[in-house]
Amino acid sequence: MAQLTIDIKKLAHNISFVARSCKDAGLDMMGVLKGPGMDSVIIRTLVENGVETFGFSNMPKKNLYDTVLSRKPVFISLPSIHEIHKLVRYFGTSFNTEISVIQRINEVLIAEKRSHNIILMVDTGDLREGVLPENVVDTVRKIHDIKERKLGFSGIGTNLGCCAGMVPDEENIQILQDLALEIEARLGIAVDTVSVGGSVFLGWLKSHRLPHKINQIRLGEAVFLGNIPTLYQKHEDLYDDVLVFKGDVLETQEKRVDLPRCPGRDALGFQPAFPNTGKRKRAILNFGISDTYPQGLRPLDEGSSIVCINSNYTVMDYTDSPVSLKPGDFVEFKMNYISMLQAFMSPFTDIVYQY
Ligand SMILES: *Cc1c(COP(=O)(O)O)cnc(C)c1O
Repeated sequence: MAQLTIDIKKLAHNISFVARSCKDAGLDMMGVLKGPGMDSVIIRTLVENGVETFGFSNMPKKNLYDTVLSRKPVFISLPSIHEIHKLVRYFGTSFNTEISVIQRINEVLIAEKRSHNIILMVDTGDLREGVLPENVVDTVRKIHDIKERKLGFSGIGTNLGCCAGMVPDEENIQILQDLALEIEARLGIAVDTVSVGGSVFLGWLKSHRLPHKINQIRLGEAVFLGNIPTLYQKHEDLYDDVLVFKGDVLETQEKRVDLPRCPGRDALGFQPAFPNTGKRKRAILNFGISDTYPQGLRPLDEGSSIVCINSNYTVMDYTDSPVSLKPGDFVEFKMNYISMLQAFMSPFTDIVYQY
């Protein structure tokens, strides 16, 4: 079994640094746990370092939250109209954009005598979820006018850096601030929460403050990977090796690499590349795409590189590296976002905490 090792001290550092910076900027930090899900060690580390609000993006098969979290978490994906019963049982708040779905939530709340809040998502330019800014006030009015309204309107939110690669700037940030003020002034409806995310905002926060109505920031990736996604940078104050993926060597052989006489595709249907030919040192490792996303792994030993990926194997070329490998040796990698998600989700990868 390959291992996803989590350095809890480094994770705690990343969380407390980010949570403190958010607090200093007047922002409540929501911990977004897309990959780790309900990992109780990770949740405890977040709680111990100042995170109280949690966001999840997948609807679980059953309620996993009751026993671990003190408050119902936030569902940060748009809910499916077919899953509203689960939504209101498991989550205290959800992000929404469609009035038909919002009405359905209200019906279920009445039928089940429950409470639930919604945040209206606004598309400020990233072209993923969100009502267009010019339709926001009208949509909030419609939400407020729902007959026998039982759901609460908490506020508005936006997401950047996920679809169109939109990074925060004066203009797109100001849209949310202005809309919050406009809703309050024109409709007399309080906008208690104004929420932004994800980790791409950490780049902006290094040298800017957000306007005063913005009071929540949703962060996941940076805490685990120590980076500023979209800008594609390491965050200078965060560790980028909280997570290390560890495979073990199953075979080492020197193989003759020749250009194929009759080129075919590899096991995954890709055209193999042959950057080097001749005698090469090859190691087969005990993981593949069923364990993580191997293409997103970076060997800690810079002389090694991944040359072939199958469902269960990853082949590494270490000819240009000073290391020598034998069966049973471990090879370590830093991870990108996809590798992290896939490794957390794979039933074959062992999660190992290091204290
Ligand atoms: C994933 C997600 C986040 C967190 O983004 P990171 O880049 O992982 O910090 C925040 N908000 C929403 C709506 C998301 O889907």
